[in-house]
Amino acid sequence: MNLLIMGLPGAGKGTQAERIVVTFHIPQISTGDMFRLAMKKQTKLGLEAKAFIDKGELVPDKVTNGIVKERLSENDVDGGFLLDGFPRTMDQAIALDIMLSELQKKIEAVINIQVKPEILIERLTGRFICRDCGATYHKLNNPPKVKGVCDRCGSHNFYQRADDKPETVKNRLEVNIKQSQPILAYYEKQGLIHNIDGSRDIDLVFADVKTIIENIG
Ligand SMILES: [Zn+2]
Repeated sequence: MNLLIMGLPGAGKGTQAERIVVTFHIPQISTGDMFRLAMKKQTKLGLEAKAFIDKGELVPDKVTNGIVKERLSENDVDGGFLLDGFPRTMDQAIALDIMLSELQKKIEAVINIQVKPEILIERLTGRFICRDCGATYHKLNNPPKVKGVCDRCGSHNFYQRADDKPETVKNRLEVNIKQSQPILAYYEKQGLIHNIDGSRDIDLVFADVKTIIENIG
């Protein structure tokens, strides 16, 4: 089973990916992991990628695609794989199709974890930190026992990291929505998309994911 998982930040894609990997014994192929591995092994492409990352620049598609192809050529993906975080652009999606057909493989299902932006904003902006002791809380998942008081040190002094502030989160989501729309449409046209309501409990979401994967055989 050759799978691709998609979902906006905060949709729970990572959690579902983890469960897929454990349940179906297929490797998860994420670009972050691939970059780290290629750099560690010091492959030609790994070193090229490192040069860009060290300069704080985006790794160009040519290098990223090369690393993905190297990874998809390894033996452990013969029984299937779960792609995560790739493709991010239409160019990458097309490059992926070309490399897969060269390897005589194809994507069999695209699992799209859907959560409304309003809910994602709530999830992603909920984190706050105690300024005095560094304890981390979340408005929804992990609030202090007494509102406004740190469990650990009794402080009333909290702050939010810049990354967790509503404006930053909204921008990040907008960029991601814009980026993923054409890719979702591309797979929709091929009849590969399976939309799953990710606003529910993690176990319920996974039950649906599991059914989809079992049905592609
Ligand atoms: Zn504290």
